[in-house]
Amino acid sequence: MNKLIVVTGVPGVGKSTVIAEALGKLRAAGLSYELVNYGDVMLELARRRTGACDRDEMRKLPADVYRDIQRGAAERIAQMAKRKLVLLDTHCSIKKPEGYLPGLPRWVLEGLKPESILIIEAPPEEVIARRTKDMARRRDQELIAEIAEHQQLNRAIAMAYAAMVGATVRIIKNRDGRLSEAVGEMVEALR
Ligand code: ATP
Ligand code: MG
Repeated sequence: MNKLIVVTGVPGVGKSTVIAEALGKLRAAGLSYELVNYGDVMLELARRRTGACDRDEMRKLPADVYRDIQRGAAERIAQMAKRKLVLLDTHCSIKKPEGYLPGLPRWVLEGLKPESILIIEAPPEEVIARRTKDMARRRDQELIAEIAEHQQLNRAIAMAYAAMVGATVRIIKNRDGRLSEAVGEMVEALR
């Protein structure tokens, strides 16, 4: 079987955490997804091309270089999705100094043809607390209102993406201390 499902949400909302648990449960039930992180694929290409060494450096590359790397990553992921079930961990929109950059512009989406887009959300104050707790990564400080705006924009852009390729959009709430509810919803969406 081959298909591609996109999982998205603002940085620090808990995408990687929810995905890891959900995929573990599905694997135990005999359903194996290949987990692909769009940023990791991009970073690998960015390292080769510009010498950028981490995600935060990559995010600040000029928009035209960034876009080119984004396109290269899409081609690579589309190849993988021809053969397997792929769960793509990515950002629907990226907050750059120039403004919000669509994570999945038309030329990326048409290559990937996702069947479904899952948005992970949490209250902005919980997102801030999670970003602060995660000391392994350097994160920009954002106000509650800015995270709320980013989440609002992600819903809008996810529906626009869905309209382009006929995908469905599902919102999964990942509240503090209720990780298992988010995991359960994701398992249901991926079955
Ligand atoms: P990024 O977009 O930067 O990759 P992410 O969305 O993948 O971020 P994670 O790295 O999964 O986010 O999670 C960020 C932090 O939030 C981690 O420390 C994680 O343990 C914590 N976290 C995730 N979900 C919950 C939850 N339901 N309750 C409390 N903490 C959580
Ligand atoms: Mg992550």
